[in-house]
Amino acid sequence: MNGNYAMLAEAVIARCRKLASFSEDAGGTRRTFLSAAMHDCHREVSSWMKTLGMSVSVDAVGNLRGFYPAISPGTPRILIGSHLDTVPNAGAFDGILGVVLAVALVDSLDGQKLPFGIDVIGFSEEEGVRFGVPFIGSRALVGRLDEELLGRKDEHGISVRKAIQDFGLNANEISEAVLRDDVLGYIEFHIEQGPVLESLGRPLGVVEAIVGQNRLEFNFSGQTNHAGTTPMNLRRDALAAAAEWIVAVENLAQRTPGIVATVGFMEAKPGATNVIAGEARATLDIRHASDRTRTEALDELIRQAESIGARRGVTVKWRTLLAQNAVAMDPFLTEQIAHAVQKSGCVPHRMASGAGHDAMILAEKIPAAMIFLRTPGGISHDPAESVHLDDVAKALECGYHLLARLGASQEFLGRTCRA
Ligand SMILES: [Zn+2]
Repeated sequence: MNGNYAMLAEAVIARCRKLASFSEDAGGTRRTFLSAAMHDCHREVSSWMKTLGMSVSVDAVGNLRGFYPAISPGTPRILIGSHLDTVPNAGAFDGILGVVLAVALVDSLDGQKLPFGIDVIGFSEEEGVRFGVPFIGSRALVGRLDEELLGRKDEHGISVRKAIQDFGLNANEISEAVLRDDVLGYIEFHIEQGPVLESLGRPLGVVEAIVGQNRLEFNFSGQTNHAGTTPMNLRRDALAAAAEWIVAVENLAQRTPGIVATVGFMEAKPGATNVIAGEARATLDIRHASDRTRTEALDELIRQAESIGARRGVTVKWRTLLAQNAVAMDPFLTEQIAHAVQKSGCVPHRMASGAGHDAMILAEKIPAAMIFLRTPGGISHDPAESVHLDDVAKALECGYHLLARLGASQEFLGRTCRA
């Protein structure tokens, strides 16, 4: 074993920073699905993989894979990875760290082979920037890329299918990307992208679930009228009704543990200083690790919108934009990760992920689990995104212990894929 985790961690950080230079934009990092910059990224990561004796391939949706064989052929494999695409004006670590760290983990084995092969995977698309649909990379592995999605167009009118072809791949081979039944599970290292681990002073988090979420749009309809001549008691002010409800959303979220609820957009019409707003439109984003808690809170917020509206003579209509249940991580893998975190000298903090991740998609078919790394300042999706060198070293050490535990576990090796 290569015991020098600090040295490896330093290389991991340098590599993440190098990948950040492969960008569609000058002066910032933006690397979307199947862009030219992704070709450069693949070339770089492939060269690292090949140095470690891994066989490299790219599947039909552009997921980069490097396979490190097991002790004996014909044995199952595990997937370790994350995504290689970024948001515009991105940091260097969201997603990318999970891929680079997986390569470093193979490096830390120093040629030692395990009872399972390791497929390091760099997903081509997670953020949903180019086509407005996230997880295109991981969806291919669970067989969830349909014609509708392949026909979707980006802002230049290029379809997913055409983008695949332009990248030198063949969309007719997408079915070959689907998980085979020799995959034991998926493990993803990812930055937390939030302030929780930092506030607790813990380097690593064990993700138990990825929260479920609802996104809705609420329309408040009152009566547009003159701001000077309409007395206060005769108004049906849609904007004031929406405002009262927004505060109610915040109040409910504050008194319900674990709930996060956000009104991130609102618009009033006609939108003039001297006119009472007759229409107001507001969005709601609500999340919780428990589907029941989330659903109950949402029902309560809908009731409150209706009662606030009724009191003010304002009608309220709402429609669902997104409804997604929480996804539990695999309890066995989660337990093994908690042990590995402990063995690397850290106190494991069990937590829910407030953001979606590829692990959530793969969990549909195979046991999946995630390890979070503390995110300094909780800052992500920004060039200031960073990691602590020591935390990356701890993550590598944890990963090494995890591989050793899994390799020695008959329970794990005896598992078969549900795909
Ligand atoms: Zn990410």
